Amino acid sequence: MDEMKTQYAQVIVDVATMQTNQPYTYVIPPELAGQVEAGMRVVVGFGRGKRRVQGFVVAVSAENPLTSSAKLKPILEVQDLRPVLNQEALQMADWLARYTYAFKITCLQAMLPAAMKAAYTKTVSLTTSEVTPAVREMFAQKDELALAKLSPEQKKLLAPLSKQGKIEINYHVKDRAKSKLVLAIKRSLSETELQAAKTKLRKGAKKQAQLLDYLQTLPLDKEVFQANAQAKTGLGAAIFKAGAEKGWLKQSKVESYRNPYKQEVVKTEAKSLLPQQAQVVQAINQASDEGKAQTFLLQGITGSGKTEVYLHAISHVLAQGKQALLLVPEISLTPQMVSQVKARFGKEVAMLHSGLSDGEKYDEWRRIERGEAQVVVGARSAIFAPLPKLGLIIMDEEHEASYKQDDMPRYHARDVAIWRSEYHACPLILGSATPSLETRARAQKGVYGWLKLTHRANGKALPAVSLIDMKKEIMTAPVQDISQVLLAAIKQKLAQKEQVVLMLNRRGYSSFAMCRECGFVLKCPNCDISLTMHLDSHSMRCHYCGHEQGIPSVCPSCHSKRIGYYGTGTEKVETELKELLPTARILRMDVDTTRKKGAHEKILRQFGARKADILLGTQMIAKGLDFPNVTLVGVLNADTALELPDFRASERTFQLLTQVSGRAGRAQKQGEVLIQTFNPENYAIKLAQKQDYERYFRMEMAVRHRGGYPPYFYTIKITTSYRDEATAAKKIFQIAGQLKQVLSPTAQILGPSPRSVMRVNNRYYYQLVIKYKRESLLEDYLQHLLLISQKEERQGLRIVIDREPINFI
Ligand code: ADP
Ligand code: ZN
Ligand code: ZN
Repeated sequence: MDEMKTQYAQVIVDVATMQTNQPYTYVIPPELAGQVEAGMRVVVGFGRGKRRVQGFVVAVSAENPLTSSAKLKPILEVQDLRPVLNQEALQMADWLARYTYAFKITCLQAMLPAAMKAAYTKTVSLTTSEVTPAVREMFAQKDELALAKLSPEQKKLLAPLSKQGKIEINYHVKDRAKSKLVLAIKRSLSETELQAAKTKLRKGAKKQAQLLDYLQTLPLDKEVFQANAQAKTGLGAAIFKAGAEKGWLKQSKVESYRNPYKQEVVKTEAKSLLPQQAQVVQAINQASDEGKAQTFLLQGITGSGKTEVYLHAISHVLAQGKQALLLVPEISLTPQMVSQVKARFGKEVAMLHSGLSDGEKYDEWRRIERGEAQVVVGARSAIFAPLPKLGLIIMDEEHEASYKQDDMPRYHARDVAIWRSEYHACPLILGSATPSLETRARAQKGVYGWLKLTHRANGKALPAVSLIDMKKEIMTAPVQDISQVLLAAIKQKLAQKEQVVLMLNRRGYSSFAMCRECGFVLKCPNCDISLTMHLDSHSMRCHYCGHEQGIPSVCPSCHSKRIGYYGTGTEKVETELKELLPTARILRMDVDTTRKKGAHEKILRQFGARKADILLGTQMIAKGLDFPNVTLVGVLNADTALELPDFRASERTFQLLTQVSGRAGRAQKQGEVLIQTFNPENYAIKLAQKQDYERYFRMEMAVRHRGGYPPYFYTIKITTSYRDEATAAKKIFQIAGQLKQVLSPTAQILGPSPRSVMRVNNRYYYQLVIKYKRESLLEDYLQHLLLISQKEERQGLRIVIDREPINFI
C-alpha cells in the first residue's frame, strides 16, 4: 500500500477576538487522511489549553506552508462528509471580509444556516483523586460535569482546586445541525407469507388482520412514512410495533424535511403580459440569454405588476436549466408574495426567512444545496443560498433598509447580489416604485440598465392623495390621533362595505409617561431613552434593551398621582377607534401582535377574507399588500420619521408614504389616501402626495449635493462604545486624529460626537462619519483598525466600522 503523504489544512477558526483573517495551519492526522476538503467544518484545538473550537477549512495542501519548525496541531474531528461551502462561497467570503471590514469567520458563518454554527459546552473533571470527600461525591456518578449546570455551592467547592491544578476544564464542540428523523416502515414478507400469517390469527384480532391486508398493498422494497400508513389505515402506532415484532414489517428511522409551508397552494398559470411588462421581460431575458452580468433598475409605480415580471423572468431561466434567486424584505414575506411564487413553481421553490425555526431553515438550505430547489425566495441572508447554476437574481423593494445587516458582517444584500451576478454572469434586477437615490442615480449614469413600468396593471390612475393639516385639524379632532376629515372618510368606506388601512409610525400605547406636577419622565435605567407603555402586558418597556417594569401609579420623583401618558401608539389608536366606531372590526398589526410565529400571516389572511374592516398597523403594513377591497389608506402621523437625525430621514418618509399610498385602489374600485401631517409644506410630504418620484429625486439629489452626502460621496461610520463615557470618547477622538493624517483634503469627517441615543444597555456610544470620494490610504488604515480593534475588544472597548451605514441613530 502506498504511504499517504502528510497533508496540511488552512483553517479559519471560530475565535472572534483572535482573528488575523489569515488561516491557521493544522496537520491532517493519518486517521483523517483523504477526508478533509476545503469548505468543510472541522474541530481543532486552539491556544495553549485544551480549548476546542470549530473551524472552516479554506484550503488543503501537500506542503507545510510554514517555514518555522513549530509543532503543528492536528485536526481533531471532521464535521462534514462533503464540503458545505463551495468554491464560490469561499471566494465570496474573502471579498466580503475585505469589503465590509469583517472577520472571515463571521462571513463564512453568515453563509450557512444558524444550525450549522457550533454550540460550545464546557465540562470540568478531576485530575487527581486527592480531594475532599464532598468533591469526590460530586464526581461519583460522572467523570465530567457540565460547567453551566453546577450549583453555586458546587462552584464554591471547586474554585480553590482550580489554582491547585486538581481540576481541568474540557471543551466540547457540538454540531447543532440535526436532520429530523421519522419512523418509516417496509414490509418484510411476501404476499403469500402475509396471507398465511393472516389465516393463523385468532378470530378477534381484527386490527392485525387489517394491518396484514394493508401490508400486502405495499410494493416489496418501498419505504413509506409510518405516519402516512397510520393515517391511511386508521391503525395506531402500537399495531405497527406489534407487526414489527412479529416480523411482518421492518421499522426504521428515515430523514424527513420539516415543511414550513403548511398551506396547500393552488397552481396558477402565468398571466399574459401587458405591453410594458412584455418589453421589460424581453430586456431581462436577452441579458440572461447573452450571459451578461448586467444590473437593471426596474422602476415601476405601485400596482404596475412587478411581481408578474419577476415570475416571467424566472420561468425563462428555469426553462434554460438555470436557477433563480428572489430577495424580498423580511416584512413583505407575507403569504401573498410567497404563495404567488409557490403557486407558479410548486416544489421547485425553497424559502428562507426569519419566520422559520432553525431546523426548518436548515432543511430548506439542504434542499437547495442538494439541488432539489431551483427557485429560492428569501430575506436578506438568502442572498448566500448555494445555487451553482444561478441564472437570475431579483431584489424586490431594493430601497428597503432591512437589506443591510446591522451586525458583522455588515453587508448590504445589493452589494453581494452584484458580486454574485458577476461571478455567474447573470442579470440582477433591482425592483422598486421608489428606488434608493444611489440606485436611481446609477441608472441615470448608465451604470445600471433602466427599465420602467409607468402604468398600473388595472389600467386605473394612482389613488388620489390628500394632505390633512393637523396644525388646524387638531382643534376639532374628535380624538388626538384622528381628524374629523379622516373619521368621516372611514365611516363612509365602512358604510360601503369597503376596507380601510391605517398606518401609524410607532408602536406601543403611548410614547412616554410624564408627571404633570414635576415633569418627571420615566426613563430606562440602562439607556438614554424614555420607556414606552404597553397595555397588553401592563408594563413600561424599553425598545432598545428590553428592560420592562410596572406602570407607575405615583410619580417616583414627587409622589404625585397625576401621571399623564403622552404621544401616540397603535394600542392607543385602537382604543380610540373602538370608541369612535363601536361596530367596526379592527385588526392591529405591529411588533407586539406579530411576535408569535405565523401571527403576521394570520392577521393578513383574516383581513383578506374580509373578517375585519380596518387594518391598523405600523410600517409593516406599508409594503407588498394587495387587497382589492381596500379603497382608503390613512396615514395618522406622516412626520415622525422626518424628525430623525439622519440625512435619509426625508427619503425614508417619501418612500414610506408613496408605498403605503400604493395599497389603495389596486383592483376595480378607485382608491383614496389621506395623510395627516404637521408639515404639509415639507417637500417630501408634498411630493409623496403627488406620488412624483422623479421630482422628489431631483430635489433630494440637490440637497445631497449641497450637503456632500451619498450618492455624491461615499460614507463610512466608525463607532466606539464602552461602559464609561470618557474611554469611548477618548478612543473616537484618537481615531479621528489618525484619520486626519490618512485622509486627503477632499474628504470630510463629521464628528466625533456622541450618538443621538448615547447610552444603551449601560454602554456609551460615540461616532464619526467619513465622507469621501477617492482615498488611497483609507482602505489600509481601516483594515489595520479592524485587526488592532480585537485587542481593545478583549478589554471591553468595542470599535465598529460600517461601510455605507444606513442607521445613524
Ligand atoms: P407591484 O408589485 O408593482 O406594486 P403587483 O405585482 O402587486 O404590483 O401587481 C398589482 C396587481 O396587478 C396584482 O393584483 C396583479 O395580479 C395584477 N397584474 C399584474 N400583472 C398583470 C397582468 N399582466 N394581467 C393582469 N393582471 C396583472
Ligand atoms: Zn433600555
Ligand atoms: Zn412628579
